[in-house]
Amino acid sequence: MTARFSRKAVERFTHPRNYGELEEPDSYASITGPCGDTMEFWLHVDDGLVSAVGFTTTGCGPSCACGSMCTELAEGKTPREALRIKQQDILEALGGMPEAHQHCALLASNTLKATVENFMKHQVEKEEACQQESCSSCDQAACSSKTQEPDETSEEYKERQELHQRLCRIRHKIIVMSGKGGVGKSTVAVNLATALMLSGKRVGLLDIDIHGPSVPTLLGLENESIQGSQDGMLPVELGDMKVMSLGFLIRNPDDAIIWRGPMKIGVIKQFLKDIAWGDLDYLIIDSPPGTGDEVLSACQLIEDLDGAVVVTTPQKLATIDVRKSVTFCRQLHVPVLGIIENMSGFICPKCNEVTSILQTGGGEKIATDMKIPFLGAIPMDPQIAESCDNGKVFVHHYKSSPTAAIMRNIITSITDRDTECPLKKSVSKQPDKEKTTMRIAIPLADGKLAMHFGHCSQFAMMDVDLDTKTISSRTNVDPPPHEPGLLPPWLAEQGANMIIAGGMGSRAQDLFTAQNIEVLVGAPAESPEKIVSNFMAGELKSGENVCDH
Ligand code: ADP
Repeated sequence: MTARFSRKAVERFTHPRNYGELEEPDSYASITGPCGDTMEFWLHVDDGLVSAVGFTTTGCGPSCACGSMCTELAEGKTPREALRIKQQDILEALGGMPEAHQHCALLASNTLKATVENFMKHQVEKEEACQQESCSSCDQAACSSKTQEPDETSEEYKERQELHQRLCRIRHKIIVMSGKGGVGKSTVAVNLATALMLSGKRVGLLDIDIHGPSVPTLLGLENESIQGSQDGMLPVELGDMKVMSLGFLIRNPDDAIIWRGPMKIGVIKQFLKDIAWGDLDYLIIDSPPGTGDEVLSACQLIEDLDGAVVVTTPQKLATIDVRKSVTFCRQLHVPVLGIIENMSGFICPKCNEVTSILQTGGGEKIATDMKIPFLGAIPMDPQIAESCDNGKVFVHHYKSSPTAAIMRNIITSITDRDTECPLKKSVSKQPDKEKTTMRIAIPLADGKLAMHFGHCSQFAMMDVDLDTKTISSRTNVDPPPHEPGLLPPWLAEQGANMIIAGGMGSRAQDLFTAQNIEVLVGAPAESPEKIVSNFMAGELKSGENVCDH
C-alpha cells in the first residue's frame, strides 16, 4: 500500500463529490467510528436502484475522500449490491490510502451499509402495511370476492369466497414449474421453502402433484398424515415450515390415474380451499411437470400468484420444455420470475471445482431469448442427491457447501424482487382486459383450422372485442409463399396480436413471440368462429402441440 496519498484521493479531499444532505431521502444513517469521526449518509432509491447518495463527515481530508468514493460506488447499484461495498473496494477505487487513514474507508462502508439496511427495513414495513391494508379490504364491499359474478352459481361463489379468505392471508405465492420430470423442480421448491424459513419467514410448502408427490419423501415425512380441525386441514409442521402434499391424502397415486381434468381441478380447488395455513409470508407450490390440469388449476385459482420459477436442465432439448412452460405462463398472465438451470456441470466433492460434463448454458440462453431473468445454475452435486434420498434439506444440512451458497444466491434473487404488494397488482387470468380489441390469425385448410400453420391455404383474420366477447369481423387473406421465417413478420404487418394454431415448432413460436404475436397451440380443427368463441370463453387452453405431419 502506498505511503502517500494518491492523486485521486487528493482530488477528493479538495472536491468531495456528493458532499451534503439529500432532500427527502429514502433512508439515512449516522455512525461514529472508534476514531471519533461521525459520518452521515442519505440515500435515494428509484426503480430498485440507488439513484443518489449524499454524505457528510466530521473527519478531515481522508474521511471526505472515502465518504465521497463510497457514495459514488453505490450509485447505480441495487441496494443489495450496495450492501456489498467493502472498505477494500473504496481503498482500491481511491488508488490506495496510507495505512493510518484506512479506517476512514471502513467507516464509510459501514455507514453506507447501515443506510441501505435502514432502507430495506423500511421497505419491509411498507410492504407489511400494504398487506394489512389489502387484508382489511377483504371486509370491504370493494373486495372481488364480495361480488358474485353473473355466470357464477351460488355454490361456486361461496367456494371462491372461501378460497379467497384462505389465500389473502398469504403474502407471496410462488409456483415452481418444469417442462418435464426429474429436472430437480421439487428439490428447488423444498430448498427454496426451507431457505426462506431459515431466514425467519413464515413459510408454507404445498405439493400439488397428484401422480407423483415427492415433497413427503424429500422431507422424510412419508408416514405423516393430515389432522383436521374446525378451521380445515392442518398442514404438517416441520420446524417453522408448514407442509401440505396431496401425497398425505392420496396414499396410492395409482388410485388417481383414472382421474380426468375436471376431477383433478376439483381436487386442487378443494385442497387449496381447505388447508388452514393461517398467516404466511410465503407459499411455495411444487407442481407436477408440464402444463397439465393441476398446474393450470393452481395458476387460475390463485389469483395473485407472484409468479413462476421454471426449472430446467442445461441440454438443448430441455429448452423446448421451458418454452412451453413460459408460453403457458404468459397465456395465463402469470409472471415468470425466472429460469433456474439445474444439474449444470458437476461439482467435485473434493476440490469443489465445477466441470461441464454435458452441454451447459441452455437455460441461460433461453432466458435471454425469451427476455426472462436467468436466476442461476445449480451444479450436479452428489450431496444434493444424498440429502434428498435421506429426507434432509440440502441448504440446511450442507449449509456451508459451495452449492448451498449458489442456491441461497438464487433464492435471494427470487425474493429480492420489487416489494410491490402482490395483492395490489392482482393478475388477470383472462385475456388482457386493457386491450379491448385484438386480431387473431387462424391458419385455414378447407375452411377449418389447419393443423400445421405452415400448410395453410389462407389465414382467417378475426377481429374480436374482448369486453363484449364478440367477433366484430372476419377477413380471409392469402399468405405469402411459404418460406421459413416469412409468416411472422407478414402477420405482424397484418396487425395480428395472436395466432391460434394446431401445431407449431418452437423456433416458429419464438419468431412470432419476437413480433409480439402471442402463440396458442394445440387448438382443434374447427371453424375460426368456434375457436375464437372458445378462446374468449376461456375454454381454449394451450394444449399439446398437435401436428398432423
Ligand atoms: P423433479 O421434481 O423435477 O421431478 P426432483 O427434485 O425430484 O425432480 O429431483 C430428481 C432427482 O434428482 C432427485 O433424486 C434429486 O435428489 C436429484 N437432484 C436434483 N437436483 C440435483 C443436483 N443439482 N445434483 C444432484 N442431484 C440432484
